[in-house]
Amino acid sequence: MHERTTEGSGLLAPAVDEDGAPFWEYAARGELRVQACGACDRLRFPPRPCCPHCRSFASIWRRMSGRGRIWSFVVPHPPLLPAYADQAPYNVILVELDEDPAIRLVGNLVTEPEAPLGAADPYAIRIGTPVRAVFAELADGVTVPRWTAERP
Ligand code: ZN
Repeated sequence: MHERTTEGSGLLAPAVDEDGAPFWEYAARGELRVQACGACDRLRFPPRPCCPHCRSFASIWRRMSGRGRIWSFVVPHPPLLPAYADQAPYNVILVELDEDPAIRLVGNLVTEPEAPLGAADPYAIRIGTPVRAVFAELADGVTVPRWTAERP
């Protein structure tokens, strides 16, 4: 797998493969979509050609509400890549989606979509916190979902 950094920010760009390409194309439009089986309708992530439940090769990309909860998180420690060291301490969260808690996405909790990764205090994060997807354009054509805490 090739690691690609975004020009300017130095942050790692997603490694896009054929199965996952639609996820990133929808993200660039500000839509969080997850692959669903075209036969049994169950969601699956990461994207792949065949349904693990019914073995169908039919699939669609279903738009999600963008709501979920923090299922787990870590605070990465050195050694970090330079662009990440500049923003440390920061968080990496695992979000379970409202539509299916078995679908969990890795991302960052941020205060605003384009905020530095360290803007949200990583030591104040609580498991179970409701979050909502937002989208940050790291570079031209490279948009990633991030997460902000839902206001109570
Ligand atoms: Zn299926």
